Amino acid sequence: MTLSEIIGQNAVVDTLRRTIARGTLHHAYIFSGLPGVGKRTTALALAQTLNCESNGRDACDLCSSCRKIQHETHPDVFTVGLPEGKKRIPIDDIRDLERRVATRPHEGRTKIAIIDPADLMTEPAANALLKTLEEPRPATLLVLLTARLDALLPTVRSRCQILRFRPLLPDIIVPMLRRSGEVSDELASLAAVFGGGSLDKATLFLGEQTRTRIDSALALLTCAFEATPLRGLAVVETARRDRDEALALIESLIIMSSAALLLSVDPDGSHAIRPLLEAYRTPLSRIAAAGPERLAAFIAAAESTAAAISRNNANPQLALEGLLVTLRGRDGHRPVGSGFAHP
Ligand SMILES: [Zn+2]
Repeated sequence: MTLSEIIGQNAVVDTLRRTIARGTLHHAYIFSGLPGVGKRTTALALAQTLNCESNGRDACDLCSSCRKIQHETHPDVFTVGLPEGKKRIPIDDIRDLERRVATRPHEGRTKIAIIDPADLMTEPAANALLKTLEEPRPATLLVLLTARLDALLPTVRSRCQILRFRPLLPDIIVPMLRRSGEVSDELASLAAVFGGGSLDKATLFLGEQTRTRIDSALALLTCAFEATPLRGLAVVETARRDRDEALALIESLIIMSSAALLLSVDPDGSHAIRPLLEAYRTPLSRIAAAGPERLAAFIAAAESTAAAISRNNANPQLALEGLLVTLRGRDGHRPVGSGFAHP
């Protein structure tokens, strides 16, 4: 893909094309943004442009160099990623990168090393990279990709030019999702909302289980805010045995209560939740009646619960039940006759 074909990242692409035209490319960039917004595609398009045999402001996408970069077989363009079975990028891999950029390009004009995801370098690896960042080599470009800019060492950040990739708008994601297979417009629109601006994440929500999860989340929220706890427990029943299912349910709860929160302050709803409103306006309006304060408090509690399950390995059943109790009993809103703990 060429730079001009990158969708939804006009600011980044314009900056890169202007910089290439002026010949003032920095020696190291950080591409920062959610997963699935085009960081890696842009890094490869940049590598193509800098090595294309047409030698223009954008790649031709057809020459031998462009094709080798597309197929990741170009000797001057390489990625340092997470080694199989490892959780971090070790120092040895960064030392290897240093050795590879120490020589002149083999067949192109510029060597490009992509580190993806750069935030998973160990601290010694990141410190080793500093040396390369401090002593830029001619005809070499480093591109660090990250969804967690804050997780990079400040010393690494300060030596790179940071380009921020925006979340993709639903208008861009929906047609991409529809092109990827047999997907209804409605499901693609819902998946785009759940993806929160990431094409990769939206793709995960294309299955029919997305509707089931939305229904579960709505049932749980309705019963929690309207004091019919037995129904709530029945919903938790389906998610309590499986950690991933519990996390998916909590994510749906957060998205649906955020939509209800937006609806509670603006009856027309924000553009971002339009597909949810079209499909679920009635149940969302009932939940919105709980009011912005309770909804905001619930979203915060749901986020802590998700963190407890994913990071601290909390028992999903206990964590979910705890979340329901927080919701039910908050700020004196305890509904009459309810009893999550003693149904
Ligand atoms: Zn080319």
